[in-house]
This record gives sequence, C-alpha cells and structure tokens, in this order.
Amino acid sequence: MLRIDHIGIAVRQMAESNELFRKLLGEAHFKVETVEAEKVATSFFHIGESKIELLEATDPESPIARYIEKRGEGIHHIAFEVDDIRAEVERLEKEGFLPLNREPKRGADNKLVVFLHPKSSNGVLVELCQSIQQ
Ligand code: ZN
Repeated sequence: MLRIDHIGIAVRQMAESNELFRKLLGEAHFKVETVEAEKVATSFFHIGESKIELLEATDPESPIARYIEKRGEGIHHIAFEVDDIRAEVERLEKEGFLPLNREPKRGADNKLVVFLHPKSSNGVLVELCQSIQQ
C-alpha cells in the first residue's frame, strides 16, 4: 500500500457540497466525472497528497442512493493506492479480507479499483486503486 489516495464521501446535493468543501478546503474541486456503471457522479478535491471524492447518486438504484437511504450522508469509503492491484487482492484474500470484485474494474480518476467488503475490515469499505498508465 502506498498512501491514502482519497476518502469518498456520499452526498445528496453535489452542487451544494462542492461549495461546502470549497469553503472547508480553501480550494475548488479540480475534476468532475460520472461513472455510468456505478450510477454515480463524482467530484475531486486536492488535499495535500490525497484527495476528497464526493459521490452523488445519478439514479435511485445507485449504490450511493441506497447507502444514503440507510445511513445518511457521510464517509463512504477509504481508498488506498497500490502499485500492483492484482497482487494486493491476492495478498489480502490470504489474510482473510473479502473482495467485492476480484477482477479490477474501471473507476473514476483513471483508476483500476477493487473494493473490500466492510464486514472484513471493521465496518470500513476499503477501495484499492491503481493508476492506469496513460
Ligand atoms: Zn473512491
């Protein structure tokens, strides 16, 4: 694991939250991106070497919509950057963690991502991410 790449935060209203986090962090978001497969709109802020990712559902059936329905807005996941995502998944499985997808999928911010089930990591949804080489 290299570092915390970002913290994902589930929000109801992206425009309002972009403004809120601009005030909080002192800098506007630098990127917005929609991940169609996950039915989610994202917006990214720099904070030092890490990022904040705001997540807004684009559809009532989105995992983010269901998350907010159950638990309200708030911290949704922590993303760790890795340099070999397949090797990390294999290592973590041996340690007893449960990947939600074993095959890395394309996430926002030009990354390959794998999520670990929160029940295997003290209730924290963990995202492993690896930058896709351009
Ligand atoms: Zn993320």
